[in-house]
Amino acid sequence: MRKTFYTLALVCVSLMVCAQPKVVAHRGYWRTDGSAQNSIVSLQKAAAIGCYGSEFDVWLTVDGVPVVFHDGTINGIKIEDATYAELMNHRLANGEFLPTLQQYLLEATKTEGCQLILEIKPHSTAQRDERVVQRCLELIHMLKLQERTEYISFSKHVCEYLHAQEPSAKIAYLKGDMAPKEIKAMGWTGIDYHHGVFKAHPEWLQESQQLGVEVNVWTVDGEEALTEFAKMKGIDIITTNDPEILQAILKKKR
Ligand code: MG
Repeated sequence: MRKTFYTLALVCVSLMVCAQPKVVAHRGYWRTDGSAQNSIVSLQKAAAIGCYGSEFDVWLTVDGVPVVFHDGTINGIKIEDATYAELMNHRLANGEFLPTLQQYLLEATKTEGCQLILEIKPHSTAQRDERVVQRCLELIHMLKLQERTEYISFSKHVCEYLHAQEPSAKIAYLKGDMAPKEIKAMGWTGIDYHHGVFKAHPEWLQESQQLGVEVNVWTVDGEEALTEFAKMKGIDIITTNDPEILQAILKKKR
């Protein structure tokens, strides 16, 4: 009898813990000393504070080198049209050189327990979309990071092509214009939508839960908004520029 009680209590506690959303640091943990958006330091800092994952953005140079950066241009140079040699001496806000995806992932292999939330940026042609997907997959396989990598993209074509190349990959779509049932039908695994989308379509939360489509919301910042989304039923992951604030809220809730 006592054993049954303890087992039940344990199940309840694990359900309560499981029900908490996971924390993803948006462009890494960069709102902290010595860090910068999409820098290698931002990945190390996200891992050091125990984030579930660290998000980062990937572009492909014209000569086929994937680099980690948010904007399509760096210091006025369009990444897609530049060679890596033309970009390699550009620095991020914390002084790091623009990281290649390979350098970034190599650092990731030295950290543990932090998922790599790899955003593939929509490129200017379908062919470039496919090339960047191929290069990302090659590196992820070379470094044996398949289990730690989850892909996200605003591009339907990128998601479709990625799924065709790597059916087992976790893929979440970012744009917010597809219902969970459409995502499921594509064989993708999640929706990763702007917080405003869930205000417009609150029914998508329950629909996702029923279909087993994972729900990630971006980008939720500041104590008030984070508290609101941390309470919301059906949110599996919160992507934030304030991961430590969210962690503190979740700790209090527990
Ligand atoms: Mg991003």
